[in-house]
Amino acid sequence: MDHSGLSRLDRRIADCRACPRLVDWREEVARTKRAAFADWTYWGRPVPGFGPPDARLLIIGLAPAAHGGNRTGRMFTGDRSGDVLYRALYDVGLASQPGSTHAGDGLELYGVRVTSPVHCAPPANKPTPGERDACRPWLVRELRLLRPTVRAALVLGAFGWQAALPAFAEAGWTVPRPRPAFAHGAHTALDAADGPGLHLFGCFHVSQRNTFTGRLTPEMLREVLRTAATAAGLGTAERE
Ligand code: SF4
Repeated sequence: MDHSGLSRLDRRIADCRACPRLVDWREEVARTKRAAFADWTYWGRPVPGFGPPDARLLIIGLAPAAHGGNRTGRMFTGDRSGDVLYRALYDVGLASQPGSTHAGDGLELYGVRVTSPVHCAPPANKPTPGERDACRPWLVRELRLLRPTVRAALVLGAFGWQAALPAFAEAGWTVPRPRPAFAHGAHTALDAADGPGLHLFGCFHVSQRNTFTGRLTPEMLREVLRTAATAAGLGTAERE
């Protein structure tokens, strides 16, 4: 298996400047900063996926947060959404530690990789359809490189779901028509003509709007993570 392919892809993603609005925004946020992070040198670039190149479970979010991934350079790192996601991954035995504060904090994921269909922080967390489509080839390449090992994908939120389905199709899996609808707990098995299939799961996004209101509780997240990990052939543990 060519693990260096994914490292090369990650480096290429980090250099991408294809979306003028997002390039302006990510760099402006990096210059102006949030007062609480005034001492930080913001990453201010596209944020590549994070996790081992032989992951069996892929988690797909929406896009990096302006003062989270766009500051730290690592997916879901340094913001409240990431606190919820990595805490849950730790609780079910898929991460080495419950916290994720900066790229050098020692966090390791076990058999899990985290990525997003849009790699740059968008204003108001809302990429345009054109930006979503411009970024899709990166997700397609990532999926192709992961195909030898990945057996399940957990998509966080309807935006990621809509963005990811065409990428799964382009990467070689068969996506049913009509396309499966997003729902928390949704499960669809995608076949592939030339290799193993993929179990696709939906989960409400770990956004503050969902977690603060109780729409997505820690137990709901742990449960869907356990289900997706089991489908991927990963063992889980009970740490909570
Ligand atoms: S969103 Fe994706 S395609 Fe657009 S600039 Fe960022 S990395 Fe490139």
